[in-house]
Amino acid sequence: MATSVFNEDICMNMSTPDRAAFDALDHPTVVVVGGGFAGLEMVHRLAGKPYKVILLDKNNYHCFQPLLYQVATGSLGADSIAHPFRRTVGPMHNVIYRMGEVLRVRPEENCVDTDHGCVEYDHLVLATGTVTNFFGNRQVAEQAMQLKSINQALDIRSDFLQDFEAALYLDDEKEQRQRLNFVIVGGGPSGVELAGALAEIRKTIVKHEYREMHNERMQIHLVDTNHAVLANFSPKAQRLALKYLKQLGVNVAFGQQVTDFDGATLTFKDGSTMDTNTVIWTAGVKGRPIPGIESAVEERSGRYKVDAFNQVLGTRNIYALGDIAQTTADPEWPRGHPQVAPVAIQQAKNLAKNLIRGNVQNWKPFVYRDKGSMATIGRYKAVVDIGKLHFGGPVAWFMWLFVHLMSIVGFRSRVMVLTNWAWKYLSWKNTIRLIIRPYVRKPAMTGEPVEGESV
Ligand SMILES: Cc1cc2nc3c(=O)[nH]c(=O)nc-3n(C[C@H](O)[C@H](O)[C@H](O)COP(=O)(O)OP(=O)(O)OC[C@H]3O[C@@H](n4cnc5c(N)ncnc54)[C@H](O)[C@@H]3O)c2cc1C
Repeated sequence: MATSVFNEDICMNMSTPDRAAFDALDHPTVVVVGGGFAGLEMVHRLAGKPYKVILLDKNNYHCFQPLLYQVATGSLGADSIAHPFRRTVGPMHNVIYRMGEVLRVRPEENCVDTDHGCVEYDHLVLATGTVTNFFGNRQVAEQAMQLKSINQALDIRSDFLQDFEAALYLDDEKEQRQRLNFVIVGGGPSGVELAGALAEIRKTIVKHEYREMHNERMQIHLVDTNHAVLANFSPKAQRLALKYLKQLGVNVAFGQQVTDFDGATLTFKDGSTMDTNTVIWTAGVKGRPIPGIESAVEERSGRYKVDAFNQVLGTRNIYALGDIAQTTADPEWPRGHPQVAPVAIQQAKNLAKNLIRGNVQNWKPFVYRDKGSMATIGRYKAVVDIGKLHFGGPVAWFMWLFVHLMSIVGFRSRVMVLTNWAWKYLSWKNTIRLIIRPYVRKPAMTGEPVEGESV
């Protein structure tokens, strides 16, 4: 075990003393693919323990997805919700990070192929999260915007600012309204939070800074096939969220299924249409499993089927955690655990503890402890479900604020977020509205592969 786990391509130019010390560790190697909530927790838990840990991620940072909508609406800068992996693993002598995309798992050889060569493992932990699910609608996938990554959040930010600027050059009211019609598909927490934040922008920024614009021409629509927002929340939280959205002037349309979007017209199943240039799709996610262990993938969800210990079914030493894992062992969750950060973190904690225990006879199964759900809707409003407690309003909002602030990785990020929020909420100013990287719309139906569609 005290040999290098990298192939020669990856090893080139890397025989530093630290690297030699890492290779010399006489411990089994755990390769963690993906440094999201699950992967990062795994790394923290195994730091200083008798394992050599290699974290692989295609990005060089951890992204705090719950606040992506704040980046998308210019309330937070991208660096407030991203944390470099090297900062995390720097002090961990038994953990190294390599930036790279894992392309294939080769279970028989105990290695993964990356875009930089192969990496060998004794234990493999797959924590690669999910991609947007367009439910097979390629046309919508090509034209709609998504909110799963920092790049996509920055695209949304540029897009709505570009729309504001472009609308001011339009004399025709219909054309202006089309530019300023923002449709969010999916009434889950991401859709609700985004709709609330855009409505706040209309109330404050558009009113005060785009004075030549009729601010009522900016319309925010939230559409869902369901008949309630926040489908997984309590009925009380759903009612409150709907009330807050309506107070903010968001047009909520239930029972509406999107069938087509060509970049200018959105079409629904009942044949009705809406003129809009901007559709933001937050209606679902699915796994994008790495090729190599297809037999363990649940077809509908694209997630790896795992047992009570998060071991991928049919494998010996491969585990899946977080959004990409679908338990087959918890009767309370027949369709798998919810795809939320606490599940990812708790699963990682459990697996790390089991690996540290060593002998599999002593391993403990994963039990999900649901600590509640919350979502924020605009300024000072949120809804919270904790056990039998369901409430909304400013108290819920302060709770939301505290929980999210405490969950962000890194002291610097917390200070930045707190400062930004304080400035924004006390001054009604929200200053990160910069078109740094203009968003370029895709021409309709390019036929190119679409992120979130390829499996
Ligand atoms: C907009 C939005 C808002 C959300 N709000 C909330 C909320 O308020 N509360 C909540 O609990 N949850 C929320 N969630 C869900 C939560 O973010 C996810 O459940 C959580 O991120 C899952 O963690 P994970 O570790 O499984 O995957 P992720 O956090 O998605 O991390 C996956 C990592 O894998 C890397 N990766 C992927 N493929 C590869 C590959 N082939 N090779 C190398 N690296 C790869 C990615 O770069 C990424 O770093 C939200 C999600 C979104 C998108």
